[in-house]
Amino acid sequence: MAKISKSFAKERIKQLRHELEEHNRNYYVLATPIISDFEYDMLMLELQGLEARFPEFASEDSPSRRVGSDLTDTNEGFVQVEHRYPMLSLSNTYNEEELYEFHQRVANVAQGPFSYSCELKIDGTAICLIYREGRLAQAITRGDGLKGDDVSRNIVSIESIPHILNGDNIPTEFEIRGEIFMPYEAFDRLNSERTESGETPFANPRNAASGSLKLLDPAQVNERGLDCILYHLLGDDLPFSTHSEAIEAAGSWGFNVSDKSIVAKNIEEVINYVEEWDEVRKRLPYATDGIVIKVNQLDLQRQLGYTAKSPRWATAFKFKPEEALTTVLSIDYQVGRTGAITPVANLEPVPLSGTTVRRASLHNLDQMELLDIRVGDLVFVEKGGEIIPKITGVEFSKRHADVQKPVFPSACPDCGTPLERDPEQARHYCPNSEGCPTQIKGRFIHFVSRKAMDILAGEATISLFYDKGLIRTLPDLYRLKAEDILGLEGWQQKSVDNLLSSIEQSKQVPFERVLYALGIRHIGEATARVAANAFGNIDALASASREELMQIDDFGEIMADSVVAYFANQTNRRMIEELRGFGIQFALSGEKITRLSDRLAGMTIVISGNFSISREEMKALIAAHGGKIVSSVSGKTTYLLAGEKSGPEKLKRAEKLGIKVITEEKFLKIIEGESL
Ligand code: NAD
Repeated sequence: MAKISKSFAKERIKQLRHELEEHNRNYYVLATPIISDFEYDMLMLELQGLEARFPEFASEDSPSRRVGSDLTDTNEGFVQVEHRYPMLSLSNTYNEEELYEFHQRVANVAQGPFSYSCELKIDGTAICLIYREGRLAQAITRGDGLKGDDVSRNIVSIESIPHILNGDNIPTEFEIRGEIFMPYEAFDRLNSERTESGETPFANPRNAASGSLKLLDPAQVNERGLDCILYHLLGDDLPFSTHSEAIEAAGSWGFNVSDKSIVAKNIEEVINYVEEWDEVRKRLPYATDGIVIKVNQLDLQRQLGYTAKSPRWATAFKFKPEEALTTVLSIDYQVGRTGAITPVANLEPVPLSGTTVRRASLHNLDQMELLDIRVGDLVFVEKGGEIIPKITGVEFSKRHADVQKPVFPSACPDCGTPLERDPEQARHYCPNSEGCPTQIKGRFIHFVSRKAMDILAGEATISLFYDKGLIRTLPDLYRLKAEDILGLEGWQQKSVDNLLSSIEQSKQVPFERVLYALGIRHIGEATARVAANAFGNIDALASASREELMQIDDFGEIMADSVVAYFANQTNRRMIEELRGFGIQFALSGEKITRLSDRLAGMTIVISGNFSISREEMKALIAAHGGKIVSSVSGKTTYLLAGEKSGPEKLKRAEKLGIKVITEEKFLKIIEGESL
């Protein structure tokens, strides 16, 4: 063992704790990890090793002793609920030897024969479901292990979660835990939609599942195609002596339990299962990142107990990320709809995790330089948890002397305009948004897409119309006439009629989708909806300042800057006027904008907690009386409208800043005209 000085250990422990906390936040709260799970686990192992060698620096607060928390920062949108039984993590290992050590620790405590339940470790996000009298009562995330976010309204649409149970001997009250996950198919669909709309795709299905579960709008969660498998039953005095019996009973009551689990009589059977599934899992329709091995006898589980972070009666064997070695054939520089240039490596096709990898994104110039990648290099490609293949390194020992450093283009590969660099994001952009053909076509493809204006035109149609000079700016679509299209290759009267009628119908598409359809950089479907609800119409949004925009739920600096820049551009403003002239919806429709009064005009309101109506309805009510809803309490806030179980952080902040806190009852009186 290498000799380490006490002062070095102290510094390194501090540094590791800080790094791991940061990664926890990226992973659990923001759902955008920046290192792989394997890298994270290696850092954790180093920390645990140092803490064991230098116990004088041990701390209850260390990430090695606490469950990484997924609690939403501001408690925005979700009420926090205490867990009846703490929801912990799992100890993990990447090697079989440590499985034997785990077995030895269990065998030392066991007084008789015992077995293990071996289960797939589904790579999603943990959920705790509470059932009372055979009915689903509440759904809570793991949170920090002691309390979680109540996401009940977001799980109602997940078909595999039963609302009412059927069967014999269902306990009056119990808790069942499982994994909410996003099958590959739904994940691929979601990511292609995000890419198309200029949003960052999710790195893997796990992040997509946890990000989706925390959306504020249940309707959107519904569209994400989440699924759930249940794996742990808990309650007082449950009539089972083994875990597998309990899970079997849960299956008979209507729960979706895994049919891939087995009971292993000894550690050799466990190892066989691990080895078999390391291969077979590659053909499953959902992601798994390991095998969970649980002592099956509940008595023995109780005897073994828990550490502060995980049960001693279970462990996870984690699969190493799969890796392959292949050659870089060339590098393309792709132009996106928003003008972003993405370098993409074309690879010698190589099989990896059940698919053939041919291309891998190099993201940006910084990443290319970090890898020091060249055409002709042998590179390592990884697909560990991440579905998007990633180049993790270059095999420098095999590099040929004559390979050249790639030159990042200084001009747009499509239109030749000199590229600009966005310093904040390390990305290069083609600034010729009005003249670059790829950007123009990309904008149309996004505009007509199903979630935007839902016009019956695909990529080929847009390209054809563009090439024929029929479309240049979005309003051109509304100028199309049958005679312009009839006679073009593949177009008959019927298809022309269908297209024109879908263009006509698009005039009814609601404002939030129109806003999304405009393709403002960084404004995805969800943020467009939030902005539409907060401002009500395009004129209010166009005149909003950066600060006002940043007050909106889910809006960060980058989004606010992007909206300001979009409306500062006179071409965009003119285009919106033209679209308005064609009857496109640039204000919230019907009941949503019915202005009931001006009693809240000029007021800025933060809402927190639960009300007798849904939060969406509450927001609509505030807007209908002229008020503005913002997400965080600041000196400019007029009221904090606090419902049941409102966030303690917000209440504290309001108190500190002297902001008036009002109840729902008081709020209703204010909008009825009562003065405070
Ligand atoms: P974990 O994901 O390793 O294991 C515990 C979880 O496994 C449970 O909470 C449950 O959600 C899940 N699970 C799936 N199938 C299960 C089954 N059949 N039975 C029981 N549980 C099952 O632990 P964790 O505490 O959620 O996360 C820690 C791990 O997350 C780390 O080891 C690391 O791999 C990863 N992580 C990565 C980063 C990063 O930046 N890449 C950051 C934080 C954590």
